[in-house]
Amino acid sequence: MSPAEERFKVLIIDDSPVARKLVELPLLEKGYRLLLATSGQSGVELFEKHRPDVVITDWVLPDLSGQEVCQRIRSSSQDSYAYVIVLTAQTGKENLVKALALGADDYLTKPFHRGELLARVGVGARITGLHRQVEAKNKQLEELALTDALTGLPNRRAIEDWAASQLSNAARHGFPFWVALADLDHFKQVNDTFGHDAGDAVLKRFSKILKSSLRRGDLCGRLGGEEFLLVLTHTDKENALKVIDRIRLELSSTPVTFGGCTVGVTASFGLAGFEGSQKASALGPLRQLADAALYSAKRAGRNRIEFTPAPVC
Ligand code: GH3
Ligand code: MG
Ligand code: MG
Repeated sequence: MSPAEERFKVLIIDDSPVARKLVELPLLEKGYRLLLATSGQSGVELFEKHRPDVVITDWVLPDLSGQEVCQRIRSSSQDSYAYVIVLTAQTGKENLVKALALGADDYLTKPFHRGELLARVGVGARITGLHRQVEAKNKQLEELALTDALTGLPNRRAIEDWAASQLSNAARHGFPFWVALADLDHFKQVNDTFGHDAGDAVLKRFSKILKSSLRRGDLCGRLGGEEFLLVLTHTDKENALKVIDRIRLELSSTPVTFGGCTVGVTASFGLAGFEGSQKASALGPLRQLADAALYSAKRAGRNRIEFTPAPVC
């Protein structure tokens, strides 16, 4: 038994115990993990629950037709491929053509040769394996496209999309919503004095503080440069300010050491948002309010938080 075969799950759908055994035994000997269904309906349910790699289904079943089984498996496996082999006793080519057109990948005509069954399941397992690799790579690429490479935080696109979707949820369901802009103070001086790598270390340190200070439902991302966006929900203004102040204090009280030098850094924050009956439908105006608050914090001496209330409509 090779480890590859050991990993693959095969679902067998057949109402005849004898036919099932004929498929089951050679596959068991090869070490495939098997799921057995005696009807089309239970086969589809097992498929949805266990996501097997290969499905071998009889064309004639007591409840659903082989046609329906193929269609239902295809429609519920859009984001994760499964290789479908149809078993048919009929020699007429019409059904086979129909099965392939409906999403089956291959067929076997009963009575089948043991070696042929294993060879065709092997092809199915190999193709599904390739699909899984492509699916995993795509997921990885999607994540990379949404992640800031330096800090590992969500990037501008990801955090803005998240903020917009949370804002529309907050407006619909009436929960509090806050956005905060954070900007490191005199960061250019850090780069100029200690070098770009020291600047990068500071950005990483600040990101770590942000990540560990926010609750699970809240999120922060890097907008670019030394600017970050925080989204806090389901909390009142007082508590949002408290959370941000903790972040501010932690950064200012723990200098970053880099190449034997100690770099002290602070950040300024601008907060905007709403709770209760106040509402905002677009992120843009709220961002502008947070930006105005950040500007006030910079002008007032930095290392502080300012809040701009939303205008009463
Ligand atoms: P202020 O307190 O007004 O925000 O001043 P500041 O110096 O922080 O702001 P300014 O916009 O003048 O400078 C931002 C600096 O951030 C300039 C740029 O070199 C630096 N920077 C932007 N992105 C990166 C990065 O990825 N790594 C490093 N090390 N520096 C960066
Ligand atoms: Mg700055
Ligand atoms: Mg800036």
